[in-house]
Amino acid sequence: MSLKEIGEFGFIKKISRGCLIRPDTIVKAIGDDAAAFRSDPEQLTLMTTDLLVERIHFLRAAISGFDLGYKALAVNLSDIAAMGGTAREAFVSIAIPDDCQLDYLDDIYDGIKDLAAEFDINILGGDTTRSKIDLIINIVIQGIVPDKEILCRDAARPSDVICSTGFLGDSKAGLHLILNQIAADTQGLKSLLKAHNRPQPHLREGRFLARQPGVHAAIDTSDGLSSDLGHIAQESQAGARLYADKIPISPNLKDFCARFDFDPVKYALSGGEDYTLLCTIAFEHAEEIAHDFEKKFKRTLFAIGEITADKQFTLIYPDGKTKPITPTGWDHFKAK
Ligand SMILES: [Mg+2]
Repeated sequence: MSLKEIGEFGFIKKISRGCLIRPDTIVKAIGDDAAAFRSDPEQLTLMTTDLLVERIHFLRAAISGFDLGYKALAVNLSDIAAMGGTAREAFVSIAIPDDCQLDYLDDIYDGIKDLAAEFDINILGGDTTRSKIDLIINIVIQGIVPDKEILCRDAARPSDVICSTGFLGDSKAGLHLILNQIAADTQGLKSLLKAHNRPQPHLREGRFLARQPGVHAAIDTSDGLSSDLGHIAQESQAGARLYADKIPISPNLKDFCARFDFDPVKYALSGGEDYTLLCTIAFEHAEEIAHDFEKKFKRTLFAIGEITADKQFTLIYPDGKTKPITPTGWDHFKAK
């Protein structure tokens, strides 16, 4: 069987066998946004790592060094946010091709340090090496979370309200501009490009949600709404119902879809790299938490659907028509 056939998630499942030698202190191993293990009676340590590879995750000519560094750290912080944690320490490793200029490298580290300073994170080390062709950046983050507050993918319950901490699909639109070499000639298009190049990790939002009673499960939207919500549903052995008219689509994405003739709902469902948080909240707490969220962050916590007891994954249109959702987000090995 080939890698393409089993896909990224089949591959992860395969390699995760035999990885736990000392399971006693491990709360979450492979399979969530970050690993979690006990380091103190009331607190868990979180660890996560992410790799950005030139030509797979970014085109060097299309992103500034600053944005690349910023994004490399942001995608890692987003995984700590998805566990409800606080990020603490970072290790940055880089493989540098000969044609990469020192100025560009300086900019990468400026971008990393800018975001690290915003969230109070130390950079404690890493590795530097030469690469033949592509620039590769890997970051490891350590964080903490009180053990009673950790948010995992497997804790959603039927009738939970599914919420997103931000708009979905903007980053995919930014990527479309880059891949098709379309100039960002309006403020709206510039914002979409920024959503792709400089995503904001929702660490404060994750901490806020983790502290609320009734918030059960969470994941960050790295692969796309349909894929990421699919992970929650699968891990929680449940299904999900999404309302097409409640999926949060930014005014910028609406304009973009009108101009380039895309369906905004499809775009938001299959997008990726938005790095908002998807969470599921007990029905009786959802309204109050959304109210408090808005008061604290001056933004909406969008309620987009419900967790269901059956294992169906359905999209419901305002006229009552329904459509099964198939996860269409990113899979590194299945992607062409
Ligand atoms: Mg994640």
